[in-house]
Amino acid sequence: MRDMKQSIILNNKEYPYTVTFKKMRSIIVKVRAGQLIVSAPYYTAIETIDSLIQKNKEKLIKSMESYKPYLSVEDHYVYVFGKKYELVIRDLGKKICRIHDDKLYVYSRNVEGAFEQFAKELLYQYLSKKIEASLPLFSKNHVKIEIKKYKGRWGSCFYKVNKVSFNLSLIHLKKELIDYVIMHELTHFIEANHSKRFYHELAMRMPDYLIRQNALKETHV
Ligand SMILES: [Zn+2]
Repeated sequence: MRDMKQSIILNNKEYPYTVTFKKMRSIIVKVRAGQLIVSAPYYTAIETIDSLIQKNKEKLIKSMESYKPYLSVEDHYVYVFGKKYELVIRDLGKKICRIHDDKLYVYSRNVEGAFEQFAKELLYQYLSKKIEASLPLFSKNHVKIEIKKYKGRWGSCFYKVNKVSFNLSLIHLKKELIDYVIMHELTHFIEANHSKRFYHELAMRMPDYLIRQNALKETHV
């Protein structure tokens, strides 16, 4: 694998992008965290990639420009369960965060690190409570819960080892979206693939799943 930094002018604005060349059949252009990311087969000409980006520029620009991080130290805010909190940093050298009213206090200069630890605990509490309450719907007593920093997914179900895994970034989303991810992953204990049966089983336990699923599609990881 080989990464290459490039840039392209779209509507008079320069956008940097990274190309990763790998063994694959066709070019994939994605926007992740407001950045253009390209994967392409070995020996693809940059001109070919650029023309593909140009062809899809409206969609790509919209996606890049609408990106807002969930946590911004620079702009002093963070989203927790869909709510925006003002970020107050008081460096006491402690990896601790506390919520008071509409503010989230971070007592460390390592804001990301402190928040990550806080988020992991908070998300775990929420997930374990919700999952425990939902397990009877799946005729199960216990599952292992894991929280990780995934890049392109909200969750995973490892049904063979009785484990569900969730993206730490879920902490930023509204609870109705987190609940959708929980139900989605638990449904994989019934049906491994995204088959018709899968969605039937999901709809039985979460009749409005489609609304949530669509809302989640509009949400960046
Ligand atoms: Zn799935």
